[in-house]
Amino acid sequence: MRIVVMKIRLARLTATALWVTAVGAGLGGCSNSGASTVPQVVAAAYPFTFVAEQVGRDFIEVRNLTSPGVEPHDVELPPQQLADLSDADLIIVEGGFQPAVDDGLEQIAPTGEVIDVAEIVTLQNAVSNTDTLDPHIWLDPQRMAVVTEVVADRVASLTPEHVGEIRANARRLIEALEQLDAAYTTGLAECARRTFVTSHAAFGYLASRYNLEMVSVSGLDPTLEPSPAEQAAIADTVTREGVTTIFTETLVSPAVAETIADETGARVRTLDPIEGLTEESSDETYLTLMRDNLAALREANGCS
Ligand SMILES: [Zn+2]
Repeated sequence: MRIVVMKIRLARLTATALWVTAVGAGLGGCSNSGASTVPQVVAAAYPFTFVAEQVGRDFIEVRNLTSPGVEPHDVELPPQQLADLSDADLIIVEGGFQPAVDDGLEQIAPTGEVIDVAEIVTLQNAVSNTDTLDPHIWLDPQRMAVVTEVVADRVASLTPEHVGEIRANARRLIEALEQLDAAYTTGLAECARRTFVTSHAAFGYLASRYNLEMVSVSGLDPTLEPSPAEQAAIADTVTREGVTTIFTETLVSPAVAETIADETGARVRTLDPIEGLTEESSDETYLTLMRDNLAALREANGCS
């Protein structure tokens, strides 16, 4: 056992040394993984950071590759974060969601285990572009429960002395996700309208799970703006379906959504795709933001 651990440590030291050589002296030295006594987990975006923190609590150290306030689709990884990936004992990513993270993993060939969320849950095609898989699986509590189980297994294997606590933490989170799922099912069962209009197409899994119809202003990529014709089509849908609310989000400019709202007389509200926390939402969690989203959807769609 000790030999295996030493071999892993040596391999990791070698990987770090190679990385320092590759990027220049000093950068790799910032990594504190050598000083830490708990397993190091790196998660590519907030939803996976949340799961790892809830499951691992004080028994692991979790870093999020997407800084607060940054839109995770477009995250870029500076050398220090590549070094964190290289040193991590466990990495949680979703292939196809963040191109910079996919590229980074290819560059560094990490020594730690990699959980690719895209391989453990069933992905569905994007509503806005049926040639593309939709990455926003965390907006479906049932898929988040699957992620929780896999993350708990891997974290438990990294901290064998805390398996009981890790399993109990995972059970608590899965129960909270089941309660959330039940609240959505009940809360969205009887509504005056089933169509909702969002900024980018983040809510496809939520829409499928709870039988809603998502119309998005910008498609899967939050930075894309609709053409004037697409914008007019969205405004037509808003008027035809009696949509009361155009949803914007926390990390993307609300300009186009506000224009459509002005044209149609709809109001503008926030529906958080929970891709990352901002300064304003720093005291929230995935679970509280999902509850806020449910309340916003119920109000917008006239649910009883
Ligand atoms: Zn997104």
